[in-house]
Amino acid sequence: MSHTTTTQSLKSLNTFGMPVVAGNYIPLTTVDSVAQILTPLLRSEKEVRVLGGGSNILFTRDVHCALVHPQFKEVRIISDTNTSVSVAVEAGFNWHQWVLHSIDQGWYGLENLSLIPGNVGAAPIQNIGAYGVEVKDCIASVTYYDFDTLSFKTITNSACEFGYRNSVFKQSLKNKILITEVVFELSKIPKVNTQYGAIQSQLEANAIATPSPKDVSNAVISIRQSKLPNPADIGNAGSFFKNPVLAKDQAQEILKNHPNAPNYPAGDHVKLAAGWLIEQCGWKGKTLGNVGVHNKQALVLVNHGKGSGQEIYNLSQQILESVASKFGITLEREVNIW
Ligand code: FAD
Ligand code: NAP
Repeated sequence: MSHTTTTQSLKSLNTFGMPVVAGNYIPLTTVDSVAQILTPLLRSEKEVRVLGGGSNILFTRDVHCALVHPQFKEVRIISDTNTSVSVAVEAGFNWHQWVLHSIDQGWYGLENLSLIPGNVGAAPIQNIGAYGVEVKDCIASVTYYDFDTLSFKTITNSACEFGYRNSVFKQSLKNKILITEVVFELSKIPKVNTQYGAIQSQLEANAIATPSPKDVSNAVISIRQSKLPNPADIGNAGSFFKNPVLAKDQAQEILKNHPNAPNYPAGDHVKLAAGWLIEQCGWKGKTLGNVGVHNKQALVLVNHGKGSGQEIYNLSQQILESVASKFGITLEREVNIW
């Protein structure tokens, strides 16, 4: 199958609102079109990149390789029992709409991941997580088209090598596959996770003593709307850096000098809050030219409207250097730099 080469502005297709252009933009409307279009494209050895909702990419320049954009969004029930359901969701389905749909159907497990931007296809890539839940807890398998073998492959949860904001798709398979569908295993028995203090406070404020999964979803939506900049109003890609997970002795050394630093057990390691570290370096609410650091959450870098990807990148570099100099910790960027 051939496709027409289209030049496409990506300004409305990335949440930073960077006004870059893709010279060879290819929307993929069906799963069947994936192999039909990608096989000849990859045989001619052209580089291919995949765009989802554009909420975890910083574009620093125009895109010259082929940019494919999965837009297929079917939902299929694979098995259904009294206690659980297994559902395949195609890559182009909007993540938050899928979470709301699952709760409406009485399928539970994803409530804490409400209002995360982006599409289903990208969710396994950084094992999206929020408020004590990671998507890996609900994934049975992931199907992808492999750019090397030019064939489809389905791998189970354990082969995805999920970790904290990490997976095989972010490591050895990075930019070498296109995820077509994710199979979720969800519970029909309501069980909520309210371990994060912000959720508890929100539920208490609404006098909800025994929350349903829908109550937890609503609480998460309210907290996020009050704290995070809406990309429709101010360009951003959520947390720009990952929280550092340190060996216990390194963390203890830092906590000795900074006893107020928020810290959380992470297996036999300790997780520190990157936002707090950045704030201590004086960055919260700062503006540098057209870009800056959000005034309510220092982990979020923002485009004030006319910023460029390079400006955001330069700001992130300055932040990295000041955190390294003050705390001896090298932060890792969570956002994909293109
Ligand atoms: P994109 O940004 O389009 O792509 C991200 C990467 O995945 C790119 O490398 C791209 O090539 C690749 N990719 C995308 N789709 C596919 C596919 N089908 N197959 C193969 N590769 C693909 N993240 C969290 O984990 N937790 C949060 O709470 C959270 N909150 C956020 C809040 C805001 C306001 C914003 C803007 C972002 C937030 N994020 C959060 C980050 C982001 O929403 C997630 O990482 C999301 O999963 C990215 O999805 P996307 O479809 O936009 O991916
Ligand atoms: P927050 O509640 O102010 O907490 C700050 C940090 O402390 C978070 O990053 C969180 O780690 C950690 N934390 C807080 N309570 C914890 C607990 N009980 N157990 C373990 N760790 C705890 O954070 P926030 O910025 O408002 O974000 C709220 C949630 O949404 C977080 O889970 C965050 O990851 C998620 N979020 C993610 C993005 C993104 O782009 N990745 C953007 C916005 C929000 P964790 O991050 O590991 O949870």
